[in-house]
Amino acid sequence: LFAKKTRGGYRFFEKTMSLSAVEGVILETDLRKALEQGEFELHYQPQYEVRGAGKLVGAEALIRWNHPQLGQIPPAKFIPLAEETGLIEPIGEWVIREVCLRLNEWKAKGWALPIAANLSVSQFRSGTLVDRIRGILDETGADPGLLELEITESMAMDAGQAYTVLHELSRLGVQISIDDFGTGYSSMAYLNKFPIHRLKIDRSFIDGIDRNGDNAAIVSAIATLGHHLNMNIVAEGVETREQVELLNRIGCDVAQGYYFSKPLPLDRFEALAGKAAWDK
Ligand code: C2E
Ligand code: MG
Ligand code: MG
Ligand code: MG
Repeated sequence: LFAKKTRGGYRFFEKTMSLSAVEGVILETDLRKALEQGEFELHYQPQYEVRGAGKLVGAEALIRWNHPQLGQIPPAKFIPLAEETGLIEPIGEWVIREVCLRLNEWKAKGWALPIAANLSVSQFRSGTLVDRIRGILDETGADPGLLELEITESMAMDAGQAYTVLHELSRLGVQISIDDFGTGYSSMAYLNKFPIHRLKIDRSFIDGIDRNGDNAAIVSAIATLGHHLNMNIVAEGVETREQVELLNRIGCDVAQGYYFSKPLPLDRFEALAGKAAWDK
């Protein structure tokens, strides 16, 4: 057992305790304070054009929680908790505002780079999402055309709700992507009814695409489908040059993954984007 001093006194942690065991005990209390204490941070993962010279064409914002005792906690560990507790509403709003502020700064630097933000299920279902996003766009003056919102297939399948919300969002001028495409239980009926601009093919299909003919067939079919519906196709989780070459042959538009870069802290992403702008 070891003790750590915190504002409220001491906390005890068992050395062998997994994060998930600690989670239930303390994370919820800490999560409530994290926003006001400025413990969240967005990392930015660059996205590159597959064809041609591999131009930097955008970024996905991914949240990180810098916990004062536990260090950096990945979203998979606290987003579900944030959803259960309703804390996702203010956290999600913080994410969108941050992204809009970055869009303004980048535009001022002459970078017209779009940024994607992930929406959670409860944010999407809240009934206030459109008003909140409209409010943030008004308040920041960010270019809605550079704001991309990622939802999952299951969110799109939430029939009545999704139809209205997506059309209203689209009217604001923001772009909408389907994240982790191909992994949800969904019919594809929504694809031509909803204003969807991009499909992000889940990384489970990209994994081994260069060795597994079935995955290549699936990715190729998704790309064909998406292109027929005027969508842009993004491959997620691209880790090797062989995958990039195959994605190029298949006709995927954009790639994102460790082969190019991990998600980067803001300063490192800006250094990279600055260099890309210079090289152009
Ligand atoms: P996602 O939106 O599908 O994001 C992609 C995840 O894959 C990220 O994990 C990213 O770091 C990881 N990744 C990117 N390239 C590679 C690769 O080449 N190989 C492998 N193995 N992984 C790669 P991360 O940052 O841990 O985020 C996990 C999930 O948490 C995200 O999946 C998204 O669903 C959720 N998330 C992240 N930020 C937010 C947020 O601000 N709000 C909400 N609601 N959810 C978020
Ligand atoms: Mg995403
Ligand atoms: Mg994804
Ligand atoms: Mg995911």
